Amino acid sequence: MTIRQQTEEIEKNILHPCACLSSESRGRKRKEKPCEIRTCFQRDRDRILHSKSFRRLKHKTQVFLAPRGDHYRTRLTHTLEVSQIARTIARALRLNEDLTEAIALGHDLGHTPFGHAGEDILREICPGGFEHYRQSLRVVDILERNGRGLNLTFEVRDGILKHSKGKGDIFCSRGKSETLEGQIVRISDVIAYVNHDLNDAVRAGVLKRSTIPSRFFKIGESQSKRIDSMVKDVIYCTSSPDMEEIGMSEKMKDITYALRDFLYKNVYEGDVSKKEFRKARKILLDLYNYYMEHTEEVFREFPKEMTAEKERIVCDFIAGMTDRFALMMYEQHFLPQPWMVF
Ligand code: MG
Repeated sequence: MTIRQQTEEIEKNILHPCACLSSESRGRKRKEKPCEIRTCFQRDRDRILHSKSFRRLKHKTQVFLAPRGDHYRTRLTHTLEVSQIARTIARALRLNEDLTEAIALGHDLGHTPFGHAGEDILREICPGGFEHYRQSLRVVDILERNGRGLNLTFEVRDGILKHSKGKGDIFCSRGKSETLEGQIVRISDVIAYVNHDLNDAVRAGVLKRSTIPSRFFKIGESQSKRIDSMVKDVIYCTSSPDMEEIGMSEKMKDITYALRDFLYKNVYEGDVSKKEFRKARKILLDLYNYYMEHTEEVFREFPKEMTAEKERIVCDFIAGMTDRFALMMYEQHFLPQPWMVF
């Protein structure tokens, strides 16, 4: 028996009957020989962690564009926070922690530079529209490894595609992940961002502590206390012998949705962000138009076999940029370069 087979046996013995077992995965698009050490979900997690798109999350905006301060969240630290919250919930419920972690680490790989602003602009220009969760799937299916993709399992792909609800109901059944592990990532994403974005907005001076409704602090004065309350609520509301879905109490849902609405109104779509949106918009639109006229600069970054239309490939190129790369390219293509002659 290989180590992987032993791990699969342990999963069968200790995980909840509703957990998604790695030995029962619906598999990969291209069949592969199983690893002798790692389960299929552990392998997916490693593939995501070692991908180039994962490393680029370091320089992509969470809320504030290319922040100079060292303590602001980036997409990478957001992803790690989501992963940690999701793993805690999965382990407490005896669900598959490896599958949960793989989905969490991959969920935001398709995010554009400049956060929400970038996504809005790509939605306008990209043929067939643009949503970051669909782009995350495109990254792992096609764009990574020079057009071959990461060939992930069905369950990880499903969780990545269905992780986001935007402003919608996180718990509605439409578009919900087929696994409980995928549903954990969806709620963990929200728990992570409503708390850390509130924290960053105060740090940036966009929100004053005194103007934040006091009801949000009823579940905890500090960020860690609030996350703790939400995580415990999810665990106690879900835990049962026949878990059908991941849940949250009505009271906690109310606070979570109210906090999310408050952040949309005052931070994501507030005056400070709107001003930055206009700048991000100009940069990305100018870059799009530039690359549409200089497609050779884009195509050399993509495999020749890629058959998508030119507009789509230019959008893939722009969506993959980090904030600082987009700013660098803008400077190179649109600003006069200093003469190095004395
Ligand atoms: Mg996210």
